[in-house]
Amino acid sequence: MTLNMKIEGILSERVTTSEQSSTVRIADMAKKLKEKGAAVYDFSAGRAFEHTPKYVMDGAIKAMRAGDTHQTMAQGTTSYREACAIKLHRENGITANPETDIVATMGCKQGLTVSLLAILNPGDEVIVEDPCFVSYKQTIRYLGGNPVEVPLLPANQFRWKRDQLESAITERTKAIIMCTPHNPTGVVHSIEDLAEVAFVAKKHNLYVITDEPYERMVWGGRRHLNLASLPGMRKRTITLMSLTKSFSMGGWRIGFAHADEHLLEQMTKLQQHLITCVSSFVQAGGAIAFGQSPNDEVKKYWAEWEKKVTFFTHSLNEINGIKCYTPEGGFYAWMDISELNIPSEQFCDLLLEREKVALVPGVSFGKHGENYVRVTCVKSWDEINKGLEGISSFVQNL
Ligand code: GLU
Repeated sequence: MTLNMKIEGILSERVTTSEQSSTVRIADMAKKLKEKGAAVYDFSAGRAFEHTPKYVMDGAIKAMRAGDTHQTMAQGTTSYREACAIKLHRENGITANPETDIVATMGCKQGLTVSLLAILNPGDEVIVEDPCFVSYKQTIRYLGGNPVEVPLLPANQFRWKRDQLESAITERTKAIIMCTPHNPTGVVHSIEDLAEVAFVAKKHNLYVITDEPYERMVWGGRRHLNLASLPGMRKRTITLMSLTKSFSMGGWRIGFAHADEHLLEQMTKLQQHLITCVSSFVQAGGAIAFGQSPNDEVKKYWAEWEKKVTFFTHSLNEINGIKCYTPEGGFYAWMDISELNIPSEQFCDLLLEREKVALVPGVSFGKHGENYVRVTCVKSWDEINKGLEGISSFVQNL
């Protein structure tokens, strides 16, 4: 027996049977090509062009220089949790006790892992959107659960209906995961949408995990609404927030989960074992970003992103064969390529090969994403213009 065979035999099936994250895989591939000198226009993963606002960086640097380089409480520093509670009160209508209701996480993704670990037993089912963020189903499976997809149909403006949700429920259903503003469709859930989910969760005694990394990015004067602030939902909702998108802090890996004490206690225990804590000086920067009202430096980013999202989606819509709505929130264009009669994966592979433009195939978000391709709109104006030229010439020559 060769060494390789032995290794294959002993690796976990959980991992070997799983697929890579398409967002991270494609972004890594684009980075590697760029490192080799290729001119690649990367609109794959949700990463904005801007760096973290200076006042947040200054806060983290100051903390580091002052000796804030040691491990913190597993739940997060008191000042970080207080800043998160202030933010929830100021912007989201949620009253949170920083001592019992908030735990620091390494972004929403790690927050999702500890949330699911706290509630899932093997064989439990979790309802997810189709299309949904690429890591939900995989994380559920890693933890021994089963994702159950409920489609977001264009005919329903990519929103769930109560009867769709109810017909997916079995005696094993434990939770629902939803994302608002939605990745990848760009829907910002209205009070009516949230009320449908709340009704079903209460009637069937389910938890709901709301993934809200795009909550600061709502366009056209819309407002972001939180499920946890609806009557009777606080106890059964885990709210995940992060600074990754809104403050261009993806590399910091910082966010938090807000949940009822009975969940928070378990999630904190998990953090003790899994990561000990989120980096200390990262929490110091995070406390500034969440605690203070957003200042002009970061508000400028959001205004610029709305312009870019509107320009990019309008321009894509002008290309023959492509249909694209202007998103209500978030920074993705979800472009419908059904008229082009080409699978979304092949569209993206050929586009990268021929025009050096990297996008994410809709099918990686679920089978109802097959006729779509996702574009991150918030790159530099130069990249946006070059990317548009590449997509347009590629589609014309298909
Ligand atoms: N969440 C982002 C996206 O959807 C970043 C990539 C990732 O972490 O998967 O592109």
